[in-house]
Amino acid sequence: MQVLFLGAPGSGKGTQCKKLSAKLGLAHLSSGDLLRAAIRENTATGLKAKEFMDKGLLVPDPVLIDMFREALSMPALKKGFILDGFPRNLAQAESLDKLLDELDMKLNAVIDMEIDTSLLEERLVGRRSCPNKVCNNVFHVKFAPPKEADVCDYCQSQLVHRSDDKVEVVSSRLETYKRETEPLIGFYKGKGVLQSLNADDTPEHIFEQILKVLQVSV
Ligand code: AMP
Repeated sequence: MQVLFLGAPGSGKGTQCKKLSAKLGLAHLSSGDLLRAAIRENTATGLKAKEFMDKGLLVPDPVLIDMFREALSMPALKKGFILDGFPRNLAQAESLDKLLDELDMKLNAVIDMEIDTSLLEERLVGRRSCPNKVCNNVFHVKFAPPKEADVCDYCQSQLVHRSDDKVEVVSSRLETYKRETEPLIGFYKGKGVLQSLNADDTPEHIFEQILKVLQVSV
């Protein structure tokens, strides 16, 4: 099964992709996580990406397209995958179509996590992330605090406040989403694969909705 998640930053798509990946045993390909890994490893891609990410802007399309061409061609992905954060504009969506054609694959569903963007600034600014790439859990100072302040409940790493979750970058990320990514809702609606659900709900209830949409038994 191949599933793509759409949704504004802070809509909770990362959390849901993680749960779905564990439930179905499918690879979770998060563009943000791949870019942050490249930054940690100090690669040329990472250095280039950081400039854009720190401003809340999209990293240039060729970087993402090359990254996903390589990722989607991995034999381990034959069973299927969950895409999170790619594509993020129409040019990337068209490139993804071509890539999937070449690989003889298609998207079974595109899940749009709908949420009023006025709720997102508080969600993003209060977010604290586990930097351990195996754990990678996300908390929130108010809505989902860790048991001990700034310490991951699962692996005890020191939580970080992502530089692009700082208040001065968040509004730029939300504007970028509206301008560049939101048009993908119409693009995938036109292809008849779009499933929209209300993302202003508990993570458990949202997950139930996702399983229902994908016709996966609980
Ligand atoms: P995320 O973790 O998905 O919120 O992504 C963090 C940042 O990585 C974004 O604000 C962008 O700067 C960059 N990024 C992630 N995915 C893409 C993409 N598909 N195209 C361009 N930039 C991206």
